[in-house]
Amino acid sequence: MELSKPVKRKPELRLDTEMQYLKGVGPRLGSLLAKRGLHKVRDLLAYFPRTYEDHRAARNIASLQEGEQVSLRAQVMRVGSFRLGPTQRAWEILVRDHSGQIFCKFFRLPFKGYFERFQAGQEVRVVGKVMRYRGRLEFHHPELTHGPIDEPLEDRLKPVYIEIEGLTSHRIGKLIQAVLEQLPLDQLAPEVFPPSLLKRYHLMPRAQALRALHQPETEKAAEYLAFRAPAQRRLIFEEFFWLELYLAARRKGLEAEASPVMNPPGRLVESFRGQLPFHLTSAQLRVFAEVKKDLQSGHPMHRLVQGDVGSGKTVIAFLAALQAIEAGWQVALMAPTEILAEQHLVNAKKWFGPLGLRVAGLFGKTKASERKALQGELSRGGIHFLIGTQALLEDPVQFRNLGLVIIDEQHRFGVEQRARLKEKGQRGRPKSVPSAPPQSRHEFASPHFLVMTATPIPRTLAMTVYGDLEVSVVDELPPGRQPVQTRVIHENKRPEALQFMREQLQRGRQAYIIFPLVEESEKLDLKNAQTEMARLQEQMPDLCFGLLHGRLSSEEKEQIMEKFRRQELHVLVATTVIEVGVDVPNANLMIVEHAERFGLSQLHQLRGRVGRGAHRSYCVLILGRGVSKQAYERTVFLESSTDGFRISEHDLELRGPGEFLGTKQSGLPGFQLAHLARDVAILQEARSAAFELLAADPRLTLPENGALREEFLRSRGPAALASIG
Ligand code: ADP
Ligand code: MG
Repeated sequence: MELSKPVKRKPELRLDTEMQYLKGVGPRLGSLLAKRGLHKVRDLLAYFPRTYEDHRAARNIASLQEGEQVSLRAQVMRVGSFRLGPTQRAWEILVRDHSGQIFCKFFRLPFKGYFERFQAGQEVRVVGKVMRYRGRLEFHHPELTHGPIDEPLEDRLKPVYIEIEGLTSHRIGKLIQAVLEQLPLDQLAPEVFPPSLLKRYHLMPRAQALRALHQPETEKAAEYLAFRAPAQRRLIFEEFFWLELYLAARRKGLEAEASPVMNPPGRLVESFRGQLPFHLTSAQLRVFAEVKKDLQSGHPMHRLVQGDVGSGKTVIAFLAALQAIEAGWQVALMAPTEILAEQHLVNAKKWFGPLGLRVAGLFGKTKASERKALQGELSRGGIHFLIGTQALLEDPVQFRNLGLVIIDEQHRFGVEQRARLKEKGQRGRPKSVPSAPPQSRHEFASPHFLVMTATPIPRTLAMTVYGDLEVSVVDELPPGRQPVQTRVIHENKRPEALQFMREQLQRGRQAYIIFPLVEESEKLDLKNAQTEMARLQEQMPDLCFGLLHGRLSSEEKEQIMEKFRRQELHVLVATTVIEVGVDVPNANLMIVEHAERFGLSQLHQLRGRVGRGAHRSYCVLILGRGVSKQAYERTVFLESSTDGFRISEHDLELRGPGEFLGTKQSGLPGFQLAHLARDVAILQEARSAAFELLAADPRLTLPENGALREEFLRSRGPAALASIG
């Protein structure tokens, strides 16, 4: 009898197969990939292409059109650099294919040694947007990578992946294609959305979308390159959805938490209003009414007050503080800079002193002995209103009964800092309270939060980053304000700007001159505040100049600000330390040097330092030598718009969210596919979907939401679990 040979069956590929068992991977590469978060086949499939290379026949250099986002293969002809300004350099790489040639230009060095990597004759792939500059098509800052020369050019759209530890895009693509060949569609990616949601938002099933993302249909190239293909839409939607579901859950969690009920008769608020030399605007009244309602609700207020510079947010904050203090609670106000905190302190003392309230300040510079005394007083409840900087976050600071936290200039504080402040008021108190409303003021879970920003956050960002906040908008400026007249000029017109400044000073006004940097920098040809101030002083010996920058000690800063406030200085030369909140109504002119170095929102913010008094106000934006046309067009937007919201939306479009928020504290979740500025419409849908879903099924216990619940917990961790209970 013949024995049948033992059949050696290949283990079946599954989503949770470890990467190292994939053909062509092995333990070494496997562990490399694992370090980058690619542990299993599932993770590999979720490694989305960064873009696509358009390999269709027509994609040659000669066929390029202005404005197209393309990728192509080409050969390097030469690498060179040229001068842009006296000390500025730009680089260019000329590439060609059989049909023509095109320049890739770089106005900054991506990283050291970048251009040394490219030599004539090498094959590269170029991914970027085709621009027209002086009548010629070229790429500006494209992505350039060395491409394998042996790879055949196919007539298709090819996914481009970000390289991992020397694993080229091409090889990553091969691994993914191999997986897609072995895994049947129904095992590729289990659906996590219930059918009703798919239907309502016209979403492609998950598995199908995943496959199409890695195997795009060539005839839909334009859609894919614009990130508008149905497969992309589905996955972008999903990225936004998890975030929004989290935010929705957080919001719901807050609603369930208990906070002090602040419902005093309002004597303090009334006396304060009686002292004010002006009437509140109707926007201020409306926003305060919203705040008051929150404070009375028994649940933590998390409200973001947005209002353009000069709209009078401080008064609203003070009203809220008085409401809390009269109800028997302590209030903390945190500002991002000492100058600003100091200014709030001066104002608060002026207004609250006569009401018999104790106001104190706590800063980084506060001496240890003073700090100790303060802390004692604070924990005994002797201080009603504490104002400070980040120093408030420091550990020993402990209140007796902190009921309201006010944060000025929200975008500098992350969600995390809010959480830390929350802990401050709760020593010895239960962290959470049974569902019943608090019986006494000693039983509560969280203080109220009021956050204020003068950098209007575009709605899209506010929704994603601060989606757990309610938003009030102060959409009215106090009467009598005139918009700041803004002019963009080139630096050869500087003498005229300075002459204009003289005229204003002769009328008794004051001026700011802003510089981007403090000390001479060799690399950048920036006017430098120090040397420039010396020169100005020499030119105009009859005027008094003061210099304010970030390297001064806080006492020095304060002295200079105080001198400027008392009109002992005509001109304050400053770096962006004065960006936020500084309020000197007599100053009516601001000159910004190297305006091209600032973001639009930042310029708008700076400009908000003037136009605060009754005088007609001006802002002159001076552009440095040799700035690009784009920089000019960007800046000139400010001549016609004084609407902070429009400016910030525009800024966001131009620069993307990372730079807009500052990378460090952006708090932005890392989206793979989604792009905030581009995908606003999808974001809004995902947000509605998430909020609707949670409203209908608050704990996600319906059977049809089972898969969704699991995925949510998997992607968001235990925090998510806590939030849906
Ligand atoms: P921001 O919203 O930029 O923080 P501020 O609160 O600093 O603005 O207010 C700017 C200036 O306007 C301050 O000098 C403040 O006293 C003044 N102000 C605030 N509200 C009013 C009002 N209703 N009428 C007139 N002036 C006001
Ligand atoms: Mg302010």
